[in-house]
This record gives sequence, C-alpha cells and structure tokens, in this order.
Amino acid sequence: PPRRLRTALIKGRANYLCLRRLAQLIDQTQYDLLRQELRVFAGILCWAARTADGDLDTLTGGTGVDPSMAAQLSSRAEECAGHACSFHRRCFVQKARERALRADLIVANHALVFTEMAATSPIALPRHAQVVFDEAHNLEEAATRFFSVEVSPSRLGTFTRRLAAGHGKRRRGLLERVRRRLAGGALGAGGPHRAAIEEAIDEAARAADTLRKDGTALFRALQCLLPAGGEATRFAFAPDPADPQAPPPAPTAAWRAVRETQAAFRETGAALAAGFRHLIDLIGESQDGELNLLAEETSDISGALQSLTQMLGDLDFVLAGQDAGHVFWVQRAHGPEPLAEAWAAPLQVGPQLARHLYETRRSVILCSATLSVGGQFAYIGERLGLNLVEPARLRTCIAPSPFDYVRQCRLLVPAYLPDPTDPDRSYVTELAALLCQVGTALDGRTLALFTSYDMLRQCARLAGPALEATGIRLLVQGESGSRDLILRTFRKGERHVLLGTHSFWEGVDVVGDALSCVIVARLPFASPGDPVLSARCEQLEQEGKSAFRALALPAAVLRLRQGFGRLIRHRGDRGLVVIADTRILSKNYGGIFRRSLPSPVLDCPDTAAFLSQVA
Ligand code: SF4
Repeated sequence: PPRRLRTALIKGRANYLCLRRLAQLIDQTQYDLLRQELRVFAGILCWAARTADGDLDTLTGGTGVDPSMAAQLSSRAEECAGHACSFHRRCFVQKARERALRADLIVANHALVFTEMAATSPIALPRHAQVVFDEAHNLEEAATRFFSVEVSPSRLGTFTRRLAAGHGKRRRGLLERVRRRLAGGALGAGGPHRAAIEEAIDEAARAADTLRKDGTALFRALQCLLPAGGEATRFAFAPDPADPQAPPPAPTAAWRAVRETQAAFRETGAALAAGFRHLIDLIGESQDGELNLLAEETSDISGALQSLTQMLGDLDFVLAGQDAGHVFWVQRAHGPEPLAEAWAAPLQVGPQLARHLYETRRSVILCSATLSVGGQFAYIGERLGLNLVEPARLRTCIAPSPFDYVRQCRLLVPAYLPDPTDPDRSYVTELAALLCQVGTALDGRTLALFTSYDMLRQCARLAGPALEATGIRLLVQGESGSRDLILRTFRKGERHVLLGTHSFWEGVDVVGDALSCVIVARLPFASPGDPVLSARCEQLEQEGKSAFRALALPAAVLRLRQGFGRLIRHRGDRGLVVIADTRILSKNYGGIFRRSLPSPVLDCPDTAAFLSQVA
C-alpha cells in the first residue's frame, strides 16, 4: 500500500520553549516573582507539562500569557548550549528538527525559510528540499523585514535585562545566576579564582548598567534628528558617486551629539565584551580537572557576548549610513519616553533571494492569487529577483479562479463622490454617508478597508451614531479589541460593519452571508512617507524608470486585488465590492486597476443609481 505522506509544521526557533530557560526561571522564582506573577507562572508550568511540541503560540493563545513573558522562555540560537545542554534529549527545538527530517512535506513560514537559507547549520529545511511559497506576493516585504537591521531601546533593553535586572533580593539575570551558582558551591568554597570571578561579575554588571544609560543617551540624541511632527527621517552618508573624493558635508549639531553618544556607547560595549571574555577565561581556568558545573552559564555568557558584538556591529553599520544597497532611517521608538531607533533595510531583496534560494534549490515555486498585474509577471519578477534567474529555469502560469466573479459579485464605483485627494471637498464626510447607506441597506455585513488609521477613525466618528441608531454595531480596528476578536465577532453574522486598515486587506476569510459588501475607501497606494518605499522610488528614478509605473502603481494594484478578494471565499458567496475612489475612472492609470479586477466596473453617476444596485 502507498505510504502515508508525513507532514510537519515547523516554526522558527524563537517559537519554541527552551527547557533550560524554563529551568532557570524556576530556579529564580523564589527571588523574582510578585504575587500576581506567580499565578501566571503556575499557568506556564501547567502548560509546559502538557505541551507536546513546545509551541509558544499555544501558550500565549491558550492561556493568555503575555507575549513578553513567553519571549523570556523562547529558544535563542546564540544562547543554545546544544549537546552540552542537560535538556538536549527532551528539547522541543531538537524534536522539531527530527520531525522535519522525517517529513515529506514541511509547512513553515516565510521567515523560517530566510533564516534557514542563511544558516550554516539549518534546523528544519534539508538542503535538498524544494520550496513552495504560498502568499508569495508578501515575499518582498517579509524578506525586507528579515534582512533589516535595527538598533533600538527595546533591543538594548532585552539584552541588558537578560544580564541583570532588579535590585537587592529581587536581583536576577545571567550575572546574578552565575553569582548564585558560585555561592551554591559550583567551584568549591573559597579560592582565589572564586574571588576573581565574583569581581569580574561585579564589573560586568556595572558595565551593563552604564551601557543601558549610554544607550538611553544615544536614543535620545537620535530622537533630536526627527522633525517636529515625529515622522521617520532618512539619512545617508555614502560618498557622492559623481564626486567620490569630495569631503563630506560638516555634520549638524544634532548629528554631532549622536556621534558623541555613539562613541560612548561603543566604548562601554567594548569594555563589557572584554569583561565577558575575562569571565569566560576565569571560569575555564578554574574548571581544570573539576566537574564542569558552570558549562551552561559559560555558554550563556558566550551567547551574551555574541549578541553584544552583533549589536555593536549593527550600530556601526546603521549609523555609518554608507552602504549604497541599503536605506537608513530614524523613527520614534515605542514607549512613553521621547526616544528614537535607527534602521537599515535592503533596497532590493531580489539578489539575496536569487543567490541563497533560487540558485541553491532545484525548484522554487511562488504562488498567490495576486502575483500578476494586467496578466503580466514583470513587476513581481523584478521585485523578487526572478529576472536574475536563468530564463530557461523560469515558468509562469495563471490558473483559472474557482469562482465565477461576474456572476457572484458586482463591482460598483460611486462616480459622484469627490476625488479623495481634492482638498476643497470633504471626502471623508461623503464616504461616511455612503458607509451608513450601505450598512443600513445590507443590515451590516460590510467590511470597509482603509489606507490610513486617521481616516478610519474620522469615518467611525461620523458614521457610528447613525448606524448604531439603527441597531448596527461598528467594529473598529484599534478600538473594538484584537484583530482576532473583531473577526470572530464579525463572523457571527450579526449586524456589524467592520472598519479595518492594513492587516484587514488580506487574510480575512469570512464565508457566507456575514460578509456581503467590501468597501475600499481609497486606492491603496503606499504612503510616500515610508522610508523604504521612498528610497526604492528614488533608486528607480535614478535608473531612468518611472517609480510610479514601476513600483507604486503595480504594488497598489496587487493590494487592491487582495482587498477585493475578501468578498468571495466560496462558490456560494455573493456580494458587492464598492471602490469609493473615483480616480479608478478619472485617471489614466485607472484602466490598469480596472483591467486587473475580475469583475467589470459599474459606474454609478448618482446616489439613486448607486443605492438601486446595493439594494
Ligand atoms: S538544547 Fe538549546 S534550545 Fe534546547 S533546551 Fe537546551 S538550550 Fe534550550
């Protein structure tokens, strides 16, 4: 009989519980946890005893444990002790790897494939595996995110908290753990080595504290580079290609402050790195001939050294702003303090994908309902580096949709609405009126997709009272609970109108009558303020191409098709798509949008004509 297909769902390492870190947490709880934290901790222990695969998503999803708490338990490559770990045989990461090696089909996310393709010892994807990317229209964004480098208060905070946190009896972290192991007799009582190690721990703890303060000064200095409105700001210090010998312009006062704080941070970081090396050497020397009771701690210190070295390298790379293949920018950091973070993202991900993926795998399949624009793959091919693949290896095909869009769906454009970019007419007021009309006529069952949270909020404020007066409830992203909760409520099919931005344009799967109308508030052009997009546009212009035609327009077309696709999820579904942006009729480029949609556009010249189609 034919053998059953073996499948494995594999996630990135950070998604799995690290048993050693759990053991460390248990070890520390007597010192660390407040009363309310104990309840959470008990929940984690119950989950850890039951879980078959150690997937932390089932911890945060099933028990409501805060994701930041779960992150403290996740496996990290730089801190994994591998075979030296006493939990190695029961390790969930190892088990996932074994499952992957036995499987015929591995299901993973995009980020895992990128991690594996860059890794010298991949965890889950055998070198010979063929790769199929579903939802491949997201590949450029996923790869950009993956290959981006960031130096931020949250990254530094995570690092320093792992080393040392809390005070007095509630002191915890790696350095405190080593200290307690010593006090517990890990190296025998007394001895010059033990005193030297304790001194090295104190020094490292002081350096970690100074690093935290230097980091705060640096992130505060970065914040001073932002304009008054706080928008993300690009920077670059690459020599002018037209005159590479020209001296660089004199730095502004704000940049001088950044350089000073950066130098202090780097110096403290180097001192801390030297402290780690010293500590590792001291522990190594003292273990001569003894049972190595500090092997795991030593591996943790090596991991911390690796994280620190990586962070210092990233900081220098980002703030140098020199690499012509990257875009660099500063943006506000999350949190109440006025701090900023610095980023670098690759201008193109195609060459990386070509080198590490297309050239190393026998076949790579990219599929999605939205890869082509006007029946052509030129746009996605260029963005994903498929133009770098030997032409004989490349095949494209457009499979017919299982849905009969012409029969199942009507596509309306209310031509009487103002142009959304017209400053003299209130587009939002008229859009809110249209939302009320549609919501009332269809008894809710409407999803409105926005390109900006600001417009969404205004619309909710204007349309909410009138809709609620008729018993229809608004579900507003950011106000009515998590995305998951909003979708679960909407799916119940009661009288709801859902208002969502970016994350609702795709991945929303509502089958049946609960969703009868999708309203697209504006054609989904990406914000020109986005640093990566603006840099990519500039690069195209420098190459003599039209950034609008080569990037902004096709990206918006694919996004619109994603939004459109929310309506029909089954052969039995019926409904309306309303594109509330007259530019699809009035602008030259409107034809490209219209030709990319699977239903013909019905142009409604006035409200009466529109409502007769809705009813
Ligand atoms: S082998 Fe690595 S991931 Fe697994 S429990 Fe040990 S330290 Fe954690």
